[in-house]
This record gives sequence, C-alpha cells and structure tokens, in this order.
Amino acid sequence: MEQTTEMRESKFFKSSKIFENVTLISGLAGEQCYLVEGSERALLIDGLTGVGSLRAYIRELTDLPVLVVVTHGHLDHTGAVFEYRECFIHPEDMALMSSGMHSGEEARLEFATRKPQEGITLADVVPAVPVKTYPIYDGDMFDLGGVMIEVIAVPGHTRGTVVLLDRANRAVYSGDACNLNTLLNLPGSASIEEYLESLHHLKQYEGAFDVMWGGHGKRAVPKSAVEDGIRLCEEILTGKDDRIAVPPTSKRSKEGCLLAKQRGENFLPVEGGYCNIVYTLDGLHRAEKQPIREIPYQNR
Ligand SMILES: [Zn+2]
Repeated sequence: MEQTTEMRESKFFKSSKIFENVTLISGLAGEQCYLVEGSERALLIDGLTGVGSLRAYIRELTDLPVLVVVTHGHLDHTGAVFEYRECFIHPEDMALMSSGMHSGEEARLEFATRKPQEGITLADVVPAVPVKTYPIYDGDMFDLGGVMIEVIAVPGHTRGTVVLLDRANRAVYSGDACNLNTLLNLPGSASIEEYLESLHHLKQYEGAFDVMWGGHGKRAVPKSAVEDGIRLCEEILTGKDDRIAVPPTSKRSKEGCLLAKQRGENFLPVEGGYCNIVYTLDGLHRAEKQPIREIPYQNR
C-alpha cells in the first residue's frame, strides 16, 4: 500500500502529492478528493463537504483551469460543486446530489464535525446553489493536456457511481465504490446483484491499474479488492457470508444492516482481503431497489 507525505495544511484542508501530477486533499472528517493536473487543465475528482473554501485552497495549488467531476452524489464528495457552480456527474446521481439530504448546509456541517472541531460553524459552510451539471457515462474521457482520465461506471454504493482511471499512474480514483466499508445499505444504493456486475466490469480494466485511491482511509487499496468484492457479492447472494448485524451506518440508512465479513485489526476482514460490504437483505436483487426521485433543494 502506498504512503503519503504531508505537504500543506490549512484550517480546513490537508494535502499531499501521491504522484508527480496528483494531489490528495482531505477535509475535516478525513474525506478525500484528488487534483489531477495535465498541461492545459486540472481535474478535481470529488469536492469534500463544502466546509471551508476548497476552491480558494486549490487556487494555491495550481494556476490551471479546473474541471470538477464527482464520483457520486453524496455530500462528502460534492461540496465544491457549490463553489465552481458546475460539475460532471453521472445522470443517475444528479437528483441525489441536489437533494436536501446531500446539499443542505446543516447536514454538511454535521458530517464535517463528526469529530468535534474547534470554531467551525455554519458560517464556514459553502451555501448550496443551483449547479450546472454535465452528464458523464461509462467510457467518457477527460483530456487534461497530455493526461487522459477515463470514466468507468460502477453502480453499487450509489446508482450513479463512477471511478476514474489514470493509466499513466496505474491508479483508479474510486470514491466510495469498493473498499473496506463499501456501503450498499443507503437510499440510492444499487442491489448486490447489480454491484456484482459492476465489479466484473471494473475487473476488465485490471491490467491498467495497481491501486485504488478512495474517498476515505488515507491509503490506497490494492486492485485485488475488486476480486475480493466479487467473491463477497457471490457469498452474500448465496447466504454464505458472515451476516453480522450492525447498527445503521448513518441517519439515512435503513434498519437491518448486515456486514458481510467479520472485521479484525485495522478494519481488515479477519479472513483477509481488502473489501467488505454493508447491505440489507431487502437489497439483494435488482427489482428490490428503487431509484431516488427527490425534489432538488427541498426537505432540508
Ligand atoms: Zn458515498
């Protein structure tokens, strides 16, 4: 697993280079995003919670024009879209991103101050504003000038989840798509059946990357996490996983959450591997999960 070195710190953000042209930036709650620079433009992959000005922080890091893409519509990935006022996002997650649950200032402050933070108030939260969205789909490419970044759709954690492939650095920026705490128990998650298909799709690219840098967790996970996830989904669908009852992972998640594999030290499954999944028994099959259809900016 790759290590990062601390580089730059402000009241709200910390950043370090993980590759020559890629900076990992983390927010107050440890949520992570990535700034990938080409010769002509930079791509901000995810936007943290929007507590403190990420846009001002990034202006210190690069003079390039910045495009923003979000791996999915959750509030700990989309905060900066309210500063840039436009972003690339898979259409399946547009409603989720602009729902009150994920755009609301108080919800975002609450996330950022999960661990008590001194002197952080609602005044530090970037207000939600209408955002121009450009749809992205599986197979799309961002040309940053000498640096190409590819979109791979991986519905699961949310229906509109994408990951970004950086062939030159042999890395995938994976948001919350596949990790040691993959949440498929949320409103807007896809079924285990669909997630299994997504992981098979992602696996087709395994020759092009070694690691996945995600939205949380400080370190990259090896690409073998994808295979671990495939095996887990198969076990879940046949009732052979550990099925450990766990409390709902957030106010938004449903009752009856199950963890697929027993955790040991450092959150790692005791059986080994780099993937674990939280799910509910009513979310195993395609037809059981309905897409989110919320009215934007309401129900805050
Ligand atoms: Zn998420």
